[in-house]
Amino acid sequence: MSYEVNEEFLKKLVTTPRATGYELTAQRGIKEYLKKEADKIYADRVGNLYAVVNPDSPFKIMLAGHIDQIGFQISYIDKKGYLWFKPLGGFDVTTLPGKRVKISGKKGIIPGVLGKKAIHLMKPEERKKVPEMEKLFIDIGCTSKEEAEKLVDIGDFATFDYGFQKLGDHEFAVAAGFDDAIGAFIVTEIVKELAKDKDFYAGVYGVSTVQEEIGLRGATVAARAIQPHVGIAFDVGHAADSPDVKKKLVGDTKLGGGPIIVRGPNINPVLYKRLVDIAKDKKIPYQTMAWHRGTGTDANAIQLTGAATALISIPNRYMHTASEVICLDDVKNIVKLTVEFIRSVIETDTFIPV
Ligand SMILES: [Zn+2]
Repeated sequence: MSYEVNEEFLKKLVTTPRATGYELTAQRGIKEYLKKEADKIYADRVGNLYAVVNPDSPFKIMLAGHIDQIGFQISYIDKKGYLWFKPLGGFDVTTLPGKRVKISGKKGIIPGVLGKKAIHLMKPEERKKVPEMEKLFIDIGCTSKEEAEKLVDIGDFATFDYGFQKLGDHEFAVAAGFDDAIGAFIVTEIVKELAKDKDFYAGVYGVSTVQEEIGLRGATVAARAIQPHVGIAFDVGHAADSPDVKKKLVGDTKLGGGPIIVRGPNINPVLYKRLVDIAKDKKIPYQTMAWHRGTGTDANAIQLTGAATALISIPNRYMHTASEVICLDDVKNIVKLTVEFIRSVIETDTFIPV
């Protein structure tokens, strides 16, 4: 099959503010994008979005990509108009000072910066210390609480304000929040490809899940609702090809090396082998990664409903920073691999390993 990445839609999705718990705008964008392709498209009460192809099939395959990204929840506005926040998800606090953010406020998007005093003003011992999250604040250029309150409400959220850019000559791209707009994007693209020719056995539930970053909350609800026979999660995985990442710790993974097919207790061995066999057969490049316990991804929640589960990771550098780097060729190959797999499933496939 041939497939090209729709960069325009990817750019739109990855730059849509969608902090954990605040995914509504992005979900509406996906719904609009897929409404003609899917046989059924609906949401649930926690905000997951489901796009279904072949809903009448007795065999259900769930595909999950979490649409939420890490962000900041505004919890207090001080008398000078500075915003104080709680993290939505796991940040490396050393990467935060000086970053630009955008606040999704009541009158629309407003720009802000994560402030911190200049190095010149720090004592020598202070310079060696890791900044504390609770001492960071957002400066939106207001001079009073009243002025700030006209733009921002308690409970509003902010995300990094860094757009989509191509990087170099190898189809690399950089953006904030590829984790996991890229997973949700891959699921939408698979649904689109499958909808072109629905002559296959399985019913496919493409889910754009919510609240992954604070405990796989959306996928837990979605997997319980669908009760899939097979579930595949698509999430970013560490690439070990930047100078400061140890292969001994991560495995031998790189950007442009193809889908990372994960293996371990969280993964059904029949499904793992099937994915690897298809990649070999169709000459799709792939890489493997071992994970020794439940993964920190939607695959964990899916497996615990009894589904044969797989995790396909998109190689990613600088995860959870404002500049995550991926390779669009990997995205392309993940879509191809998964579509080929789904089209290969027949009535006698049980994925029961024993
Ligand atoms: Zn993720």
